Amino acid sequence: MNNKEKIIQLHEIISNSKQLVAFTGAGLSAESGIPTYRGAGGLWSKYDPSKYADINYFMQDPSYYWNFFKEVRYPILKDAQPNAAHFALAELEKRGKLILSITQNIDGLLQIAGQKIVCELHGNTRKIKCLNCNKKFPMGEIYQLLDEKLPPDCPSCKGLLKPDVVLFGEQLPQDELNRAQQAAQACDTFIVIGSSLVVYPAAQIPVIAKSKGAILVIVNIDPTPLDGEADLVINMKASEVLSSVKMES
Ligand code: NAD
Repeated sequence: MNNKEKIIQLHEIISNSKQLVAFTGAGLSAESGIPTYRGAGGLWSKYDPSKYADINYFMQDPSYYWNFFKEVRYPILKDAQPNAAHFALAELEKRGKLILSITQNIDGLLQIAGQKIVCELHGNTRKIKCLNCNKKFPMGEIYQLLDEKLPPDCPSCKGLLKPDVVLFGEQLPQDELNRAQQAAQACDTFIVIGSSLVVYPAAQIPVIAKSKGAILVIVNIDPTPLDGEADLVINMKASEVLSSVKMES
């Protein structure tokens, strides 16, 4: 089957679906200018995730993360806008087709595109949390403090600030994980978009959906370890695929 035929098949699957769940990863936001971890141009080719994305390293040397935030993460995120794939998902939700977007992304772009029902498995880097008093601050407010001191102090209690995200070595929020697992069990169609499906436990969620009888679709540029289980695999850019199916579904 060629890509055009696959998109037609996806259109039919979505049209027939009553309980559609999306599961998104960094590839969804690649076309918004936010680098992925893996795949061509991925962040891991330039920065060391064992330092900026690991809780043990963060606690040992938080200034490494905050320097990365100042030099890389904030400048990219502050200007990032949702792309056609984010808007297509928001449109599917508006039409009552999409019952939940489960995302591994920490960029908040689905919500900026207008999606209301988003399950953030790995948190959201637009919020910064104090590990001492638990207050949360918008990232822009904390960015202003970075010229004075790295790591920055909590504006309220001078405690240690951390992005409100799940770093490697931390547990996923149990309520969000439960919500994602329940949706995976209940849905009739589960569509993975832009994820390498190698980060666990998140990558287990599509397996749950498939084992409960859902149609499993994977839209990703590169192959994933779950391709063999999927009913349909489309190796194309997320925006090209989703903007082709959303209009008529
Ligand atoms: P990943 O980086 O492991 O894999 C991304 C996948 O997307 C790759 O397999 C690549 O082939 C594919 N891809 C790249 N561009 C694409 C496009 N335009 N259309 C379709 N597919 C495309 O990402 P992941 O599976 O989400 O990895 C998990 C971790 O990365 C998560 O913990 C997440 O928090 C973190 N992360 C998030 C962001 C973000 O929030 N935007 C960015 C980088 C990493």
